[in-house]
Amino acid sequence: MNYTPYLDWIDQQHEAMCQLVWEWSHINSGSWNLEGLAQMSKVLQTAFVRLGADMHEVDLPPKEVVNSQGEVEHVPLGKALHLRKRPEAPLKVMLVGHMDTVFGKTHPFQTIHKVDDNTWNGPGVADLKGGLAVMLKALEAFERTPYTANLGWEIVINPDEEISSDGSGPLLAEVAGRSHLGLIYEPATNDQGQLAGERKGVGSFSVVVHGKSAHVGRAFESGRNAICALAEFLLAANQLNEQRETITLNVGRIEGGGPLNMVPDLAIGRINVRTESEADEKWVQHALQQLQNQLDLKDGIRSHLYGKFSRKPKRFTPSMSRLFDLVAECGTMLSQPISWKATGGACDGNNLAAAGLPNVDTLGVRGGKIHSAQEYLLLDSLTERAKLSALLLMRLASGEVKWENP
Ligand SMILES: [Zn+2]
Repeated sequence: MNYTPYLDWIDQQHEAMCQLVWEWSHINSGSWNLEGLAQMSKVLQTAFVRLGADMHEVDLPPKEVVNSQGEVEHVPLGKALHLRKRPEAPLKVMLVGHMDTVFGKTHPFQTIHKVDDNTWNGPGVADLKGGLAVMLKALEAFERTPYTANLGWEIVINPDEEISSDGSGPLLAEVAGRSHLGLIYEPATNDQGQLAGERKGVGSFSVVVHGKSAHVGRAFESGRNAICALAEFLLAANQLNEQRETITLNVGRIEGGGPLNMVPDLAIGRINVRTESEADEKWVQHALQQLQNQLDLKDGIRSHLYGKFSRKPKRFTPSMSRLFDLVAECGTMLSQPISWKATGGACDGNNLAAAGLPNVDTLGVRGGKIHSAQEYLLLDSLTERAKLSALLLMRLASGEVKWENP
């Protein structure tokens, strides 16, 4: 097989890829910015239309959040973008990226600046707008080859990855269910292009505590302090870290209280949990439930526990290992050494794995400091990573390597 002409074509796309990332990263598409997400979806459609796939937007259900008054709110999400090509092909590949960023409309980090000839600093340049350019050019190159009949693909670009994909989760699971392998374009975990291997599961919980308000000077005794009750709960929850080695529980935020001369009747605690197994999830859920039951035994205190594990741990199965080996093999052919390492972070790779789909989830650009105003992209990785994915697709479609899920 001679893949060189198609890989060379990608090399010629460097400028075009830079331009796409430049344009896309200037659009604020924070997960809650519906206008920005709609605009982002529009420019993505303009770029991805050249793939000649069936393309449409998918409405997502609103996301349930507990607001700072302790009330459950249903907040609307942006639309996901779904593309499908050659559903009749024997091998089906799912490609995933997200159009949202962690930077909201009012965040000061809104524009790109050129750090040096090979480095851009900007919102979403690495996570994940650079990755979307990689995905697009890899597929464009693949569509130029004579092997396409053997491989169909579907793309999901979701608008809520950074807020745990609750809305797009069912769509991701549906497409994963009819695909054979998954490629996700999160940035590499370091400047050398390392991939994320196994990933921990993640859950977020809110505990809302109601007490009884009272004036400190006139009726202190009749008040029931929600902050103090919550504090006891949170300290006990933090102790769970000592009771089970495989979990990490972080008390991340507290809200509540008001005028200092009033006994506070509302306090809210926010907790993030990382797990390695479903047994961990059950254990944590049970432990938090018990702590909440103890809270409710207190005189004049009522509490609610909200939240769930939105991402299951991503473990290596034999087919997952095989896919990583295959990507590494393609890397070797391109003189791009590829390694991987387990991480505590979660992404849509967890969702695909939970749906039974083996996947590599860090095929996007090299870059780093994501989720901060120092986020950067190494420009030479744009074509480099597009070639990696294109070669993988070409080898699978040409029959040079056989893919069968066990
Ligand atoms: Zn991301």
